[in-house]
Amino acid sequence: MAEHATRLELAARADLIARLAARHAERIAEGLGRRLRRVEAAHGARVVIEGRELVGFAGNDYLGLAAHPAVRAAFVAGAERWGVGATAAHLLGGHRAPHAELEAMLADWTGREAALTFSTGWMANLGVVATLLGEGELCVQDRLNHACLIDGAKLAGAELRRYPHRDVEAAARRLRARPGVPALLATDGVFSMDGDLAPLVELAELAHAEGATLLVDDAHGLGVLGPDGAGSVAAAGLSADEAPVLMATFGKALGTFGAFVAGSRALVDALVQFARTHVYTTAMPPALACATIAAVRVARMEPWRRDQLARLVRHFRLGARDRGLPLLDSTTPIQPVRVGDARRATRLADALAERGCFVPAIRPPTVPPGSARLRVTLSALHAETDVERLLDALADAWRAPDAD
Ligand SMILES: *Cc1c(COP(=O)(O)O)cnc(C)c1O
Repeated sequence: MAEHATRLELAARADLIARLAARHAERIAEGLGRRLRRVEAAHGARVVIEGRELVGFAGNDYLGLAAHPAVRAAFVAGAERWGVGATAAHLLGGHRAPHAELEAMLADWTGREAALTFSTGWMANLGVVATLLGEGELCVQDRLNHACLIDGAKLAGAELRRYPHRDVEAAARRLRARPGVPALLATDGVFSMDGDLAPLVELAELAHAEGATLLVDDAHGLGVLGPDGAGSVAAAGLSADEAPVLMATFGKALGTFGAFVAGSRALVDALVQFARTHVYTTAMPPALACATIAAVRVARMEPWRRDQLARLVRHFRLGARDRGLPLLDSTTPIQPVRVGDARRATRLADALAERGCFVPAIRPPTVPPGSARLRVTLSALHAETDVERLLDALADAWRAPDAD
Protein backbone atom coordinates (compact mmCIF):
# COMPACT_ATOMS: atom_id res chain seq x y z
CA MET A 1 0.00 0.00 0.00
CA ALA A 2 1.19 3.53 -0.82
CA GLU A 3 2.31 5.71 2.06
CA HIS A 4 0.15 8.61 3.22
CA ALA A 5 1.10 12.15 2.29
CA THR A 6 3.46 13.81 4.72
CA ARG A 7 2.26 16.70 6.82
CA LEU A 8 4.26 19.08 4.66
CA GLU A 9 2.73 17.73 1.49
CA LEU A 10 -0.70 18.05 3.03
CA ALA A 11 -0.10 21.66 3.98
CA ALA A 12 1.07 22.43 0.44
CA ARG A 13 -2.04 21.06 -1.18
CA ALA A 14 -4.78 23.67 -1.34
CA ASP A 15 -8.16 22.86 0.14
CA LEU A 16 -10.43 23.25 -2.88
CA ILE A 17 -13.46 24.56 -1.05
CA ALA A 18 -11.46 27.05 1.01
CA ARG A 19 -9.79 28.29 -2.15
CA LEU A 20 -13.15 28.68 -3.87
CA ALA A 21 -14.54 30.57 -0.90
CA ALA A 22 -11.58 32.97 -1.12
CA ARG A 23 -12.27 33.53 -4.80
CA HIS A 24 -15.90 34.20 -3.98
CA ALA A 25 -14.97 36.73 -1.29
CA GLU A 26 -12.72 38.48 -3.81
CA ARG A 27 -15.55 38.75 -6.32
CA ILE A 28 -17.87 40.23 -3.70
CA ALA A 29 -15.16 42.73 -2.66
CA GLU A 30 -14.85 43.84 -6.31
CA GLY A 31 -18.56 44.65 -6.30
CA LEU A 32 -19.17 41.93 -8.87
CA GLY A 33 -21.16 39.52 -6.73
CA ARG A 34 -24.31 38.09 -8.29
CA ARG A 35 -27.57 37.49 -6.56
CA LEU A 36 -30.31 34.99 -7.28
CA ARG A 37 -33.64 36.77 -7.24
CA ARG A 38 -36.70 34.72 -6.50
CA VAL A 39 -39.53 35.42 -8.90
CA GLU A 40 -42.70 34.65 -6.97
CA ALA A 41 -45.12 34.96 -9.87
CA ALA A 42 -45.04 35.72 -13.58
CA HIS A 43 -47.92 36.71 -15.81
CA GLY A 44 -47.42 38.07 -19.28
CA ALA A 45 -44.50 40.48 -19.17
CA ARG A 46 -45.03 41.07 -15.43
CA VAL A 47 -42.97 39.44 -12.67
CA VAL A 48 -43.40 39.59 -8.92
CA ILE A 49 -40.06 39.85 -7.12
CA GLU A 50 -39.79 40.25 -3.35
CA GLY A 51 -43.50 41.00 -3.19
CA ARG A 52 -43.40 43.76 -5.82
CA GLU A 53 -44.83 43.59 -9.32
CA LEU A 54 -42.44 44.80 -12.00
CA VAL A 55 -42.60 44.95 -15.78
CA GLY A 56 -39.96 42.46 -16.89
CA PHE A 57 -37.41 43.50 -19.52
CA ALA A 58 -35.06 40.65 -18.75
CA GLY A 59 -36.25 37.43 -20.36
CA ASN A 60 -35.77 35.99 -23.81
CA ASP A 61 -39.43 35.16 -24.43
CA TYR A 62 -39.37 37.46 -27.47
CA LEU A 63 -42.57 36.17 -29.07
CA GLY A 64 -44.46 35.66 -25.82
CA LEU A 65 -44.79 31.90 -26.23
CA ALA A 66 -43.62 30.62 -22.83
CA ALA A 67 -47.16 30.81 -21.44
CA HIS A 68 -49.09 30.76 -24.72
CA PRO A 69 -52.33 28.73 -24.32
CA ALA A 70 -51.57 26.40 -27.25
CA VAL A 71 -48.03 25.76 -26.00
CA ARG A 72 -49.24 25.07 -22.46
CA ALA A 73 -52.01 22.78 -23.70
CA ALA A 74 -49.55 20.81 -25.84
CA PHE A 75 -47.23 20.44 -22.84
CA VAL A 76 -50.05 19.15 -20.63
CA ALA A 77 -51.38 16.79 -23.30
CA GLY A 78 -47.82 15.59 -23.91
CA ALA A 79 -47.37 14.81 -20.22
CA GLU A 80 -50.73 12.98 -20.13
CA ARG A 81 -49.72 10.86 -23.08
CA TRP A 82 -45.99 10.31 -22.47
CA GLY A 83 -45.46 10.95 -18.77
CA VAL A 84 -42.83 13.35 -17.53
CA GLY A 85 -39.47 11.70 -18.14
CA ALA A 86 -38.14 10.22 -21.38
CA THR A 87 -36.83 7.35 -19.17
CA ALA A 88 -33.64 6.85 -21.20
CA ALA A 89 -31.09 8.32 -23.56
CA HIS A 90 -32.17 8.71 -27.19
CA LEU A 91 -30.34 5.59 -28.36
CA LEU A 92 -31.81 3.46 -25.58
CA GLY A 93 -35.52 4.05 -26.08
CA GLY A 94 -35.74 7.70 -25.03
CA HIS A 95 -36.24 8.94 -28.59
CA ARG A 96 -40.02 9.29 -28.78
CA ALA A 97 -42.38 10.16 -31.63
CA PRO A 98 -42.63 13.87 -30.60
CA HIS A 99 -38.82 14.24 -30.79
CA ALA A 100 -38.85 12.86 -34.32
CA GLU A 101 -41.80 15.01 -35.34
CA LEU A 102 -40.15 18.12 -33.91
CA GLU A 103 -36.87 17.35 -35.69
CA ALA A 104 -38.65 17.04 -39.04
CA MET A 105 -40.42 20.34 -38.41
CA LEU A 106 -37.18 22.12 -37.53
CA ALA A 107 -35.46 20.79 -40.64
CA ASP A 108 -38.34 22.07 -42.75
CA TRP A 109 -38.40 25.46 -41.02
CA THR A 110 -34.67 26.08 -41.32
CA GLY A 111 -34.39 24.58 -44.82
CA ARG A 112 -31.93 21.90 -43.76
CA GLU A 113 -32.03 18.15 -44.53
CA ALA A 114 -32.22 17.08 -40.93
CA ALA A 115 -32.15 18.24 -37.31
CA LEU A 116 -31.28 16.64 -33.99
CA THR A 117 -32.62 17.74 -30.60
CA PHE A 118 -30.38 18.20 -27.56
CA SER A 119 -31.44 18.72 -23.96
CA THR A 120 -29.97 22.24 -23.78
CA GLY A 121 -28.19 24.68 -26.03
CA TRP A 122 -25.10 24.34 -23.92
CA MET A 123 -25.05 20.58 -24.59
CA ALA A 124 -25.78 21.06 -28.29
CA ASN A 125 -22.75 23.32 -28.73
CA LEU A 126 -20.44 21.16 -26.62
CA GLY A 127 -21.61 18.14 -28.55
CA VAL A 128 -21.31 19.47 -32.05
CA VAL A 129 -18.02 21.37 -31.61
CA ALA A 130 -16.27 18.52 -29.81
CA THR A 131 -17.55 16.00 -32.37
CA LEU A 132 -16.45 18.00 -35.40
CA LEU A 133 -13.03 19.08 -34.16
CA GLY A 134 -10.10 16.97 -33.03
CA GLU A 135 -7.21 17.65 -30.68
CA GLY A 136 -4.98 20.49 -31.89
CA GLU A 137 -7.29 21.51 -34.73
CA LEU A 138 -8.41 25.07 -35.22
CA CYS A 139 -11.50 26.79 -33.81
CA VAL A 140 -11.84 30.44 -34.84
CA GLN A 141 -14.48 32.37 -32.93
CA ASP A 142 -15.84 35.86 -32.42
CA ARG A 143 -14.63 37.25 -29.10
CA LEU A 144 -18.22 37.81 -27.96
CA ASN A 145 -19.49 34.31 -28.74
CA HIS A 146 -21.56 32.56 -26.09
CA ALA A 147 -19.61 30.79 -23.34
CA CYS A 148 -20.69 27.33 -24.47
CA LEU A 149 -19.08 27.72 -27.89
CA ILE A 150 -15.83 28.61 -26.16
CA ASP A 151 -16.19 25.61 -23.85
CA GLY A 152 -16.94 23.36 -26.83
CA ALA A 153 -13.58 24.28 -28.35
CA LYS A 154 -11.85 23.62 -25.02
CA LEU A 155 -13.55 20.25 -24.66
CA ALA A 156 -12.41 19.32 -28.18
CA GLY A 157 -8.82 20.18 -27.21
CA ALA A 158 -8.80 22.47 -30.25
CA GLU A 159 -6.61 25.53 -30.67
CA LEU A 160 -9.01 28.37 -29.86
CA ARG A 161 -8.29 31.62 -31.73
CA ARG A 162 -10.70 34.45 -30.99
CA TYR A 163 -11.04 37.52 -33.20
CA PRO A 164 -12.24 41.04 -32.33
CA HIS A 165 -16.01 41.35 -32.47
CA ARG A 166 -17.41 41.11 -36.03
CA ASP A 167 -13.95 41.60 -37.57
CA VAL A 168 -13.98 39.34 -40.65
CA GLU A 169 -10.45 40.37 -41.72
CA ALA A 170 -9.12 39.35 -38.32
CA ALA A 171 -10.95 36.03 -38.61
CA ALA A 172 -9.33 35.55 -42.02
CA ARG A 173 -5.85 36.17 -40.58
CA ARG A 174 -6.41 33.54 -37.89
CA LEU A 175 -7.47 30.97 -40.48
CA ARG A 176 -4.63 31.80 -42.86
CA ALA A 177 -2.08 31.50 -40.07
CA ARG A 178 -2.79 27.77 -39.92
CA PRO A 179 -3.20 26.57 -43.53
CA GLY A 180 -4.04 22.91 -43.96
CA VAL A 181 -5.31 22.51 -40.41
CA PRO A 182 -8.98 21.43 -40.22
CA ALA A 183 -10.91 24.47 -38.99
CA LEU A 184 -14.30 25.41 -37.59
CA LEU A 185 -15.40 29.05 -37.83
CA ALA A 186 -18.05 29.61 -35.16
CA THR A 187 -20.21 32.64 -34.50
CA ASP A 188 -23.38 33.65 -32.74
CA GLY A 189 -25.97 34.83 -35.29
CA VAL A 190 -27.27 37.47 -32.85
CA PHE A 191 -24.89 38.31 -30.00
CA SER A 192 -26.62 37.60 -26.72
CA MET A 193 -25.31 40.53 -24.66
CA ASP A 194 -25.02 43.11 -27.48
CA GLY A 195 -27.96 42.26 -29.71
CA ASP A 196 -26.10 42.96 -32.94
CA LEU A 197 -25.80 40.61 -35.90
CA ALA A 198 -22.80 38.65 -37.12
CA PRO A 199 -21.63 39.50 -40.66
CA LEU A 200 -22.88 36.09 -41.78
CA VAL A 201 -22.57 36.57 -45.54
CA GLU A 202 -18.92 37.66 -45.24
CA LEU A 203 -18.14 34.89 -42.75
CA ALA A 204 -19.70 32.30 -45.07
CA GLU A 205 -17.56 33.61 -47.95
CA LEU A 206 -14.48 33.46 -45.77
CA ALA A 207 -15.24 29.92 -44.60
CA HIS A 208 -15.68 28.86 -48.23
CA ALA A 209 -12.49 30.56 -49.38
CA GLU A 210 -10.44 29.02 -46.56
CA GLY A 211 -12.03 25.56 -46.53
CA ALA A 212 -13.31 26.07 -42.97
CA THR A 213 -16.69 24.85 -41.73
CA LEU A 214 -19.09 27.55 -40.55
CA LEU A 215 -21.16 27.02 -37.40
CA VAL A 216 -23.87 29.56 -36.56
CA ASP A 217 -25.44 29.63 -33.08
CA ASP A 218 -28.80 31.25 -33.72
CA ALA A 219 -30.19 31.10 -30.19
CA HIS A 220 -31.46 34.69 -30.38
CA GLY A 221 -32.30 34.82 -34.09
CA LEU A 222 -34.64 31.85 -34.52
CA GLY A 223 -38.27 32.91 -34.39
CA VAL A 224 -37.34 36.60 -34.44
CA LEU A 225 -35.48 37.24 -37.70
CA GLY A 226 -35.82 36.23 -41.32
CA PRO A 227 -38.68 35.16 -43.52
CA ASP A 228 -41.10 33.01 -41.55
CA GLY A 229 -38.99 33.66 -38.44
CA ALA A 230 -36.49 31.07 -39.68
CA GLY A 231 -33.61 33.03 -38.11
CA SER A 232 -30.54 35.08 -38.91
CA VAL A 233 -29.13 32.53 -41.36
CA ALA A 234 -32.34 32.68 -43.39
CA ALA A 235 -32.34 36.49 -43.10
CA ALA A 236 -28.83 36.51 -44.58
CA GLY A 237 -30.05 34.23 -47.38
CA LEU A 238 -27.44 31.55 -46.67
CA SER A 239 -28.05 28.09 -48.08
CA ALA A 240 -27.41 24.83 -46.26
CA ASP A 241 -24.08 24.59 -48.10
CA GLU A 242 -23.02 28.08 -47.08
CA ALA A 243 -24.01 27.65 -43.42
CA PRO A 244 -23.70 23.89 -42.95
CA VAL A 245 -23.94 23.75 -39.15
CA LEU A 246 -26.89 25.59 -37.65
CA MET A 247 -27.62 25.45 -33.95
CA ALA A 248 -30.45 27.14 -32.05
CA THR A 249 -32.31 26.81 -28.77
CA PHE A 250 -35.92 26.43 -27.72
CA GLY A 251 -35.48 28.44 -24.53
CA LYS A 252 -35.47 31.85 -26.20
CA ALA A 253 -38.11 32.91 -28.76
CA LEU A 254 -39.87 29.53 -28.70
CA GLY A 255 -40.46 29.91 -24.99
CA THR A 256 -39.79 26.26 -24.05
CA PHE A 257 -36.52 24.47 -23.27
CA GLY A 258 -33.94 22.48 -25.20
CA ALA A 259 -32.05 22.96 -28.45
CA PHE A 260 -31.13 21.46 -31.80
CA VAL A 261 -28.48 21.22 -34.47
CA ALA A 262 -29.62 21.26 -38.10
CA GLY A 263 -27.66 20.47 -41.24
CA SER A 264 -27.07 17.74 -43.76
CA ARG A 265 -28.30 14.20 -43.19
CA ALA A 266 -24.62 13.17 -43.01
CA LEU A 267 -23.96 15.62 -40.17
CA VAL A 268 -27.02 14.66 -38.15
CA ASP A 269 -26.56 10.90 -38.59
CA ALA A 270 -22.97 11.21 -37.41
CA LEU A 271 -23.96 13.31 -34.38
CA VAL A 272 -26.33 10.51 -33.33
CA GLN A 273 -23.29 8.22 -33.26
CA PHE A 274 -20.63 10.50 -31.82
CA ALA A 275 -22.02 13.53 -29.96
CA ARG A 276 -21.40 12.54 -26.36
CA THR A 277 -23.86 15.11 -24.96
CA HIS A 278 -26.55 13.42 -27.06
CA VAL A 279 -25.53 9.78 -26.57
CA TYR A 280 -24.87 9.78 -22.83
CA THR A 281 -27.73 11.79 -21.43
CA THR A 282 -31.43 11.34 -20.82
CA ALA A 283 -33.51 12.53 -23.76
CA MET A 284 -35.41 15.74 -23.13
CA PRO A 285 -38.96 15.07 -21.89
CA PRO A 286 -41.28 14.20 -24.80
CA ALA A 287 -43.87 16.65 -23.45
CA LEU A 288 -41.31 19.42 -24.02
CA ALA A 289 -41.01 18.30 -27.63
CA CYS A 290 -44.83 18.47 -27.85
CA ALA A 291 -44.83 22.00 -26.41
CA THR A 292 -42.04 23.05 -28.78
CA ILE A 293 -43.94 21.69 -31.80
CA ALA A 294 -46.86 23.92 -30.80
CA ALA A 295 -44.50 26.87 -30.29
CA VAL A 296 -42.94 26.45 -33.74
CA ARG A 297 -46.43 26.43 -35.28
CA VAL A 298 -47.38 29.68 -33.54
CA ALA A 299 -44.02 31.28 -34.33
CA ARG A 300 -44.43 30.51 -38.03
CA MET A 301 -48.12 31.27 -38.34
CA GLU A 302 -48.38 34.50 -36.37
CA PRO A 303 -46.07 37.03 -38.01
CA TRP A 304 -47.83 39.82 -36.07
CA ARG A 305 -45.65 38.88 -33.11
CA ARG A 306 -42.52 39.79 -35.08
CA ASP A 307 -44.22 42.95 -36.37
CA GLN A 308 -45.16 43.96 -32.83
CA LEU A 309 -41.57 43.33 -31.69
CA ALA A 310 -40.18 45.44 -34.53
CA ARG A 311 -42.56 48.28 -33.58
CA LEU A 312 -41.47 48.10 -29.93
CA VAL A 313 -37.79 48.07 -30.87
CA ARG A 314 -38.27 51.19 -33.02
CA HIS A 315 -40.26 52.89 -30.29
CA PHE A 316 -37.61 52.11 -27.68
CA ARG A 317 -34.72 53.27 -29.84
CA LEU A 318 -36.38 56.54 -30.85
CA GLY A 319 -37.43 57.22 -27.26
CA ALA A 320 -33.95 56.49 -25.96
CA ARG A 321 -32.42 58.80 -28.55
CA ASP A 322 -34.80 61.61 -27.55
CA ARG A 323 -33.79 61.15 -23.93
CA GLY A 324 -30.08 61.00 -24.69
CA LEU A 325 -29.65 57.42 -23.49
CA PRO A 326 -26.63 55.59 -24.97
CA LEU A 327 -27.79 52.45 -26.75
CA LEU A 328 -25.67 49.82 -28.45
CA ASP A 329 -26.00 49.41 -32.20
CA SER A 330 -28.72 46.74 -32.28
CA THR A 331 -31.83 46.19 -34.36
CA THR A 332 -32.98 43.09 -32.45
CA PRO A 333 -35.14 42.81 -29.29
CA ILE A 334 -31.88 42.81 -27.27
CA GLN A 335 -31.38 46.55 -26.61
CA PRO A 336 -28.53 47.12 -24.16
CA VAL A 337 -28.03 50.53 -22.57
CA ARG A 338 -24.33 51.29 -22.26
CA VAL A 339 -23.18 52.11 -18.71
CA GLY A 340 -19.49 51.17 -18.40
CA ASP A 341 -18.89 51.05 -14.67
CA ALA A 342 -20.18 47.84 -13.03
CA ARG A 343 -21.23 49.43 -9.72
CA ARG A 344 -23.16 52.14 -11.51
CA ALA A 345 -24.91 49.50 -13.62
CA THR A 346 -26.04 47.75 -10.43
CA ARG A 347 -27.27 51.02 -8.91
CA LEU A 348 -29.18 51.84 -12.09
CA ALA A 349 -30.80 48.40 -12.12
CA ASP A 350 -31.89 48.94 -8.49
CA ALA A 351 -33.24 52.40 -9.35
CA LEU A 352 -35.22 50.92 -12.25
CA ALA A 353 -36.71 48.27 -9.97
CA GLU A 354 -37.81 51.05 -7.61
CA ARG A 355 -39.54 52.59 -10.63
CA GLY A 356 -41.33 49.33 -11.49
CA CYS A 357 -39.04 47.89 -14.19
CA PHE A 358 -36.96 44.74 -13.93
CA VAL A 359 -33.84 45.17 -16.08
CA PRO A 360 -30.70 43.19 -15.26
CA ALA A 361 -27.25 44.78 -14.97
CA ILE A 362 -24.79 42.72 -17.01
CA ARG A 363 -21.26 43.02 -15.67
CA PRO A 364 -17.83 41.42 -16.12
CA PRO A 365 -16.93 38.63 -16.57
CA THR A 366 -20.09 38.12 -18.66
CA VAL A 367 -19.04 41.18 -20.69
CA PRO A 368 -15.53 42.69 -21.09
CA PRO A 369 -14.23 44.92 -18.25
CA GLY A 370 -15.52 48.49 -18.43
CA SER A 371 -18.49 47.54 -20.60
CA ALA A 372 -21.19 46.92 -17.98
CA ARG A 373 -24.66 47.56 -19.31
CA LEU A 374 -28.35 47.28 -18.65
CA ARG A 375 -29.62 44.49 -20.87
CA VAL A 376 -33.10 45.48 -21.95
CA THR A 377 -35.01 42.82 -23.84
CA LEU A 378 -38.37 43.41 -25.49
CA SER A 379 -41.16 40.92 -26.05
CA ALA A 380 -44.31 40.87 -28.18
CA LEU A 381 -46.06 40.73 -24.78
CA HIS A 382 -45.06 44.33 -24.03
CA ALA A 383 -47.38 47.21 -24.83
CA GLU A 384 -46.14 50.57 -26.07
CA THR A 385 -47.08 51.94 -22.64
CA ASP A 386 -44.65 49.47 -21.02
CA VAL A 387 -41.88 50.79 -23.24
CA GLU A 388 -42.82 54.40 -22.36
CA ARG A 389 -42.69 53.53 -18.69
CA LEU A 390 -39.24 51.98 -19.10
CA LEU A 391 -37.95 54.99 -21.05
CA ASP A 392 -39.17 57.40 -18.38
CA ALA A 393 -37.73 55.25 -15.61
CA LEU A 394 -34.39 55.06 -17.42
CA ALA A 395 -34.23 58.81 -18.03
CA ASP A 396 -35.16 59.45 -14.42
CA ALA A 397 -32.67 56.96 -12.96
CA TRP A 398 -29.94 58.21 -15.28
CA ARG A 399 -30.26 61.74 -13.87
CA ALA A 400 -30.61 60.70 -10.21
CA PRO A 401 -27.48 61.81 -8.30
CA ASP A 402 -27.21 58.49 -6.45
CA ALA A 403 -26.78 56.72 -9.79
CA ASP A 404 -23.44 58.42 -10.53
C1 LIG B 1 -28.89 30.75 -24.30
C2 LIG B 1 -27.80 30.48 -25.27
C3 LIG B 1 -27.21 29.22 -25.37
C4 LIG B 1 -27.50 28.12 -24.39
O1 LIG B 1 -28.75 27.58 -24.60
P1 LIG B 1 -29.49 26.86 -23.38
O2 LIG B 1 -30.55 26.05 -24.03
O3 LIG B 1 -30.01 27.94 -22.50
O4 LIG B 1 -28.45 26.01 -22.69
C5 LIG B 1 -26.28 29.02 -26.36
N1 LIG B 1 -25.92 30.02 -27.19
C6 LIG B 1 -26.44 31.25 -27.10
C7 LIG B 1 -25.98 32.32 -28.04
C8 LIG B 1 -27.39 31.52 -26.13
O5 LIG B 1 -27.89 32.75 -26.00
